[in-house]
Amino acid sequence: MKRKVFLGMSLLWIGLFVFTESSFAQRFPRFKVLAFYSETVEQAHVDFAQDAINYFRDLTIGDGFVFDVTTDFNDLNTEKLADYQLVMMLNDQPHAPHQREAFQKYMESGGGWLGFHVAAYNDRHTNWPWYLEFLGGGVFHRNNWPAMPAKLVIDREHPVTKGMPREFIAPENEWYQWKPSPRENKDIEVLVTLSPENYPLGLKDIVPDGDLPVVWTNTKYRMIYLNMGHGHREFTDATQNYLFLNAFRWVVGQDRNGDPFLK
Ligand code: ZN
Repeated sequence: MKRKVFLGMSLLWIGLFVFTESSFAQRFPRFKVLAFYSETVEQAHVDFAQDAINYFRDLTIGDGFVFDVTTDFNDLNTEKLADYQLVMMLNDQPHAPHQREAFQKYMESGGGWLGFHVAAYNDRHTNWPWYLEFLGGGVFHRNNWPAMPAKLVIDREHPVTKGMPREFIAPENEWYQWKPSPRENKDIEVLVTLSPENYPLGLKDIVPDGDLPVVWTNTKYRMIYLNMGHGHREFTDATQNYLFLNAFRWVVGQDRNGDPFLK
């Protein structure tokens, strides 16, 4: 008799365990992120990538998503990307034609992208017209040196800037100016801009004036570009971290299959 009770209790516990496990299995992962970075670029850009990986990986604990990281840009292939709701480029961009084609196809099929700093760098040697259009048409023009903090201004109400102060001091960064300014492109919505109060910005290399958008989206795609991404201090400011988090959540939440955070 005792053994029967024991057996019954055991089956009940096993049943509960299986039920609990399967209900979690349905909710995890809600979505998958693939972050690309390079270890062979400027050290300050590698430092940023490592901090970014730690920051976003920590979010997986609460938000129930998979955060995969790779330095192999051959992972930009259609078969692999089909598994991911968001691609991040932390400090580099694809250079091989087949990688570029796979990324373009992914974005044109509704893929999500969050890019930082040098991931958008382009000049007359880049030879990737689609990417230039994707980013709003701005070619790298100049930057300040050394890296410096700067006052940033929030341009418009948008889910990415919601709840933010109108201005804040961002941690030190190498701020890139683009020519022409992406703001001149009708598909671009600029969300954050460097305040003109910072000018002249720099010591060795100086940005003396001009429009300097820092965060923007191309409304034709599910994407946000953020110019931050230089050195070890980028995740030391709560306001800026909040901006990064909002940008991440907004791009993911625009998934054409519905907002995974609401599932
Ligand atoms: Zn830099």
